[in-house]
Amino acid sequence: MHEFTPEVEALANEVLAYSLERLKSDPPLDGPLSEAELFAQVGNTITAKGLGGKEALDVFTSVLAKACISTDHPRNLAFIPSAPSEYANLFDLVVGASALYGGSWQEGAGAVFAENQALRWIADLAGLPQSSGGVFVQGGTMGNLSALVVARAQARKNFSDTTRWVIACSDQAHSSIASAAQVMDVDVLKIAVDNNGKLQGETVAKEIDALHRQSGRRVFAVVATAGTTNLGIIDDLAGIGAAAKAREIWFHVDGAYGLAALCALSVRSKFNGVENADSLIVDPHKWLFAPFDACALIYRSPDLAREVHTQHASYLDTLHDGNWNPSDYAIHLTRRTRGLPFWFSLAAHGTDAYSEAMEQSLEVAKYAAQKVSEHPNLKLLSEPELSIVAFTRTGWAASDYQKWSDELLTDQVGFIPPSSHDGQPILRFAIVNPWTKFSDIDLILQRL
Ligand SMILES: *Cc1c(COP(=O)(O)O)cnc(C)c1O
Repeated sequence: MHEFTPEVEALANEVLAYSLERLKSDPPLDGPLSEAELFAQVGNTITAKGLGGKEALDVFTSVLAKACISTDHPRNLAFIPSAPSEYANLFDLVVGASALYGGSWQEGAGAVFAENQALRWIADLAGLPQSSGGVFVQGGTMGNLSALVVARAQARKNFSDTTRWVIACSDQAHSSIASAAQVMDVDVLKIAVDNNGKLQGETVAKEIDALHRQSGRRVFAVVATAGTTNLGIIDDLAGIGAAAKAREIWFHVDGAYGLAALCALSVRSKFNGVENADSLIVDPHKWLFAPFDACALIYRSPDLAREVHTQHASYLDTLHDGNWNPSDYAIHLTRRTRGLPFWFSLAAHGTDAYSEAMEQSLEVAKYAAQKVSEHPNLKLLSEPELSIVAFTRTGWAASDYQKWSDELLTDQVGFIPPSSHDGQPILRFAIVNPWTKFSDIDLILQRL
């Protein structure tokens, strides 16, 4: 039955050799080409007879791969990049070879067991109870949406006279909250942050109470951000959680980027209050050294999530046997065991290695902030709270920032697209890669 012919074997060797080489060497930065340029080079790759494995691989390695920016390049500090450990990437090859189904305990017990232990590590760091649990979903966007849907279902039980549901969050919350609101057809109450960019519990309490004076409208979830995407700022988690609890409102912590730093002792106390979350998310593909795509979504009371998200059908009922089925905790059914590369790396290296790598990113961020402050042309926006360093270049207009960024990529030095804050253009370094060294920061700052 197996068709592992000599031809397949030869291809396997080539695939493994390419993968190994990519893992061993410094990642190339690379960069995009236009569709016309790509078509000129590879033409139509989908043909009746097929290109053959060797040729298709060649098209990928020699053209297509080079038109993708490596997210793990040490001077790719754009958006939130990625820095999967070698172990995590290697284990992704194992996952790929194993046809694992991660939706149910019945089909994927061993894999789900391992994923759950990795989730347990995060839940324990956050101080959630032993009864907490969740699932790895595709990304923070999916994690936030899945959690907010559970939050609304809870609120519907208690506040049946509500005609319009509302999510409360800061005006710095990630765009995925607005996206979730749109999908759910609910409103967003955007609350102003304080002078330090933090959403404060007192303000949240005041704004929610004001909104609740309007008949029919009710906040069903408060979203605190634990590490904003643009500046890495952590909201007043303790105060916001208390404000939510006092009003019987679900408290969700969006830590897609920042909650990774729960494992770094030097900053752990900044997350105080996260233990009161009804749900939280953190993306191992951002700052926990896992490949795309994996978001850990954890509920304080997973039973509530299961009530909402379990899909029912005659062909699925056999799965509802009291075991832990990851499908039941988010908006999905079939799922890859996307938490396994993260689990493997964590299991193999141990959690101390994670704390050390995290502290190292924090050190590099501190170094960068220091160098920016000393730089004659640059102005630091604020001391980094985690590992995002944001600053402005004196005398530059938005177009200057873009031009500088474009040249940086063209010269294959780094990838640092401009962002903006309060309407003014800024540059930001998002440092999540243990291979980003002080010298990488120096190299970039020399060009400013
Ligand atoms: C990145 C991010 C998200 C979205 O996560 P994806 O994995 O890109 O869907 C949500 N919230 C915050 C704070 C983020 O930084």
